[in-house]
Amino acid sequence: MIYPSAAMYPFFNREQLLHRQRIVDFAQEHLGSRLRDFDRSGTFALEDWQRCGAQGILGSHIPEAYGGKGLDATTTVMILEALGYGCRDNGLTLALGGQTWSVQEPILIYGNEAQKQKFLPRLCSGEWIGCHGVSEPASGSDALSLQTTAVKSDGGYLLNGRKSYIGMAPLADLALVLANADPASGKWGVSAFLVEKGSAGFSQSEPRPKTGTRTNPIGDLVFEDCFVPQEHLLGGEGIGMSLFTQTISWERAFIHAGHLGAMQCLFERCVDFAKERRQFGQPIGNFQSVSNRIADMRLRLETCRLLMYKVAAMKDAGADAAMECAMANLHISEALLACATDAVRIHGARGYLEEYGVERQLRDSVGGVIYAGTSDIQRNLISSLLGL
Ligand SMILES: Cc1cc2nc3c(=O)[nH]c(=O)nc-3n(C[C@H](O)[C@H](O)[C@H](O)COP(=O)(O)OP(=O)(O)OC[C@H]3O[C@@H](n4cnc5c(N)ncnc54)[C@H](O)[C@@H]3O)c2cc1C
Repeated sequence: MIYPSAAMYPFFNREQLLHRQRIVDFAQEHLGSRLRDFDRSGTFALEDWQRCGAQGILGSHIPEAYGGKGLDATTTVMILEALGYGCRDNGLTLALGGQTWSVQEPILIYGNEAQKQKFLPRLCSGEWIGCHGVSEPASGSDALSLQTTAVKSDGGYLLNGRKSYIGMAPLADLALVLANADPASGKWGVSAFLVEKGSAGFSQSEPRPKTGTRTNPIGDLVFEDCFVPQEHLLGGEGIGMSLFTQTISWERAFIHAGHLGAMQCLFERCVDFAKERRQFGQPIGNFQSVSNRIADMRLRLETCRLLMYKVAAMKDAGADAAMECAMANLHISEALLACATDAVRIHGARGYLEEYGVERQLRDSVGGVIYAGTSDIQRNLISSLLGL
């Protein structure tokens, strides 16, 4: 067994490595048992989600006062990576990461005491599922050009518009939604609202079939004169741009943690397969075309991990790390896709068949170069931070 090895994780002390192993054991024993069926049917593993909540995993980065464990970003990322290694349900780990960084984190940073007390314990325990609605049919990469409006009404706001391609939208109990309360001010007029399932004028679409991470249903949130009470405005009016910028940096850096764990698992399978599978009277790992691919996979895993935990350490130290977050997202998402493609090649026809689970990893990797900002957008960000 290659994983977990202290040499590969110099960032962690012995206690953290033991914790990591406990998470791997938990995930292997209790999560992902119906992954193949759920991937086929596009079913979210709700019981696994609740198990993660009961284990305190969802609340890793939330203070104990709000139902969390009060762990730092580094340990939280380690937990998500270990989960991905143990259960390999990339849809589940995407949902866990999405809620952790783009729903709970903004409530923690921008919420008032009443909002934190009301929402965070339910989210951390796994009782509720949260989603983050920014993208719209006409605004994707140019996220803050959104058209959903929030008009002041007696005691709150009336929201109108549609959010599209939102992870967990069909099942969410709580949606953190950006809407413009002052369109004349452009993106400076954007505000953030917490909308509960069942609110009048709020509907959630059925899941929309997609390429990968099928266990994480994606869909639309529709607002038709949806009344949101004043106490569900997150932060002040016009805080949306700052909230988005801050939130997306956490999401960018760490959203792939679970997939990286799953990729480690796939890498180990590739090493085993290259030793076992024989062609031309010898193991295929003897052919440099195969072993070079595996060496490249190993290097990508290493660089991804170094980058991800470097950003985690920076975040823990209070740094903004905007450039590092963008680099981490760009490098990790592209590396995951490249590793999954290599894994399919190494496994030949087996890599292409559903029954071996290798092709699922490839399908699951594709979305990573799109969500939390496409690779093109990460490059733009890095360039603009360089003053270009
Ligand atoms: C699996 C999945 C889960 C998602 N989950 C969520 C979620 O939970 N919440 C949410 O709000 N959204 C979510 N999204 C939506 C996601 O954030 C958007 O798809 C993404 O921001 C890109 O927007 P778009 O699809 O409209 O593409 P577009 O912005 O239309 O881009 C199309 C192409 O043009 C390129 N492009 C656009 N602008 C530029 C530019 N300035 N420079 C260079 N190239 C450019 C893009 O890189 C891309 O190749 C999810 C998407 C996926 C696939």
